[in-house]
Amino acid sequence: DLQLSSRVQSIKPSPTLAVTNIAAELRAAGQDIIGLGAGEPDFDTPDHIKAAAIEAIHNGQTKYTAVDGTPALKKAIIAKFKRDNGLNYEANQILVSSGGKQSFFNLALAVLNAGDEAIIPAPYWVSYPDMVLVAEGKPVILKSTAETRFKITPQQLEGAITDRTRLFVINSPSNPSGMAYTLEELQALGDVLKKYPHVMIATDDMYEPIIWTGKPFCNILNATPELYDRTFVLNGVSKAYAMTGWRIGYAAGPAKVIGAMKKIQSQSTSNPASISQAAAQAALDGSQDCVQTMVTAFHKRHDYLVEALNTLPGVECLRGDGTFYAFPSFQGAIDADSSVSNDVEFAEKLLKEAGVALVPGSAFGMPGHMRLSFATSQEILTNAIERLKKALG
Ligand code: PLP
Repeated sequence: DLQLSSRVQSIKPSPTLAVTNIAAELRAAGQDIIGLGAGEPDFDTPDHIKAAAIEAIHNGQTKYTAVDGTPALKKAIIAKFKRDNGLNYEANQILVSSGGKQSFFNLALAVLNAGDEAIIPAPYWVSYPDMVLVAEGKPVILKSTAETRFKITPQQLEGAITDRTRLFVINSPSNPSGMAYTLEELQALGDVLKKYPHVMIATDDMYEPIIWTGKPFCNILNATPELYDRTFVLNGVSKAYAMTGWRIGYAAGPAKVIGAMKKIQSQSTSNPASISQAAAQAALDGSQDCVQTMVTAFHKRHDYLVEALNTLPGVECLRGDGTFYAFPSFQGAIDADSSVSNDVEFAEKLLKEAGVALVPGSAFGMPGHMRLSFATSQEILTNAIERLKKALG
């Protein structure tokens, strides 16, 4: 019998990818499936970004680069942090990786020992708890509610911190809730964190530009600059520039830990793809008009979808602050249906009987909800709502 490590047995495959896969299988079998499960923009990567990649190929930028990223891309990232976030970093505080996923993975491996606790607010991006488990850490989940717009309170955070807490993870705007913390809310969390110098902070800003709060984006470092020496800012080009397939993410933070993360990366994947790095540089240095075009479209679809969801029986949806996800409660609909007992079964039923693929909230640590991606055309969204209306009677 082939022996598997306890490490791999402690984790599960990404549930969002699982839904996408089942939908693809049903589609291949000839069924008409509307996929609202995907976590990526439906837009194509902008032309000027593609052109930079093609030029890189022609220029022979097809070899290994520095493990932590090309000097040119790191310069573009440093300039981006200064320009958009008012944050100052040196080159040795930046690590470019193969997607935001690898950035967080490197961080977990670099700072967690067996049994170290990582505080993760729910609903969370599906990969945080599993990556913490791979690092043999212990995910400590803090549940939020719709009453606080799916955000945790300072009291909750303080109550969860122990001597074993090593990391606090915050993702705003959030996948899956679409909610963003206000500057005041971040300051209140920062005030708690100031009291516990043994806790490091990871702020995942992957959806930074995709907001419609009417206020500028802010993260916990903007709110509480005193946390600079123990905060990691994680970001990437995947969502903002419709570049999920290019696999470029980046991390900024204290040089000591960034160096340790680089060491891990040097013994696993080495540098991210040289061509993707050239494309990411063009994305960060170029005109940001393409981002605004996509955000305007996401905002419009958000407004339609939230209103439409609230007309469905047993469904309640809050307006989000950004991202391309809606995260309604389906609890009423689940309770009203005697053939299912939870959100996972209900999602399966909707997929098989209504041909609509969405991701059950359990995947994000919040049962009773569903995540719907509106990174798809208005026509498809309208069609999906029609089908849901029929299925929910
Ligand atoms: N962080 C969040 C909150 C995400 O939603 C995602 C992707 O779904 C990532 C990080 C990872 O992005 P990437 O595709 O760059 O690995």
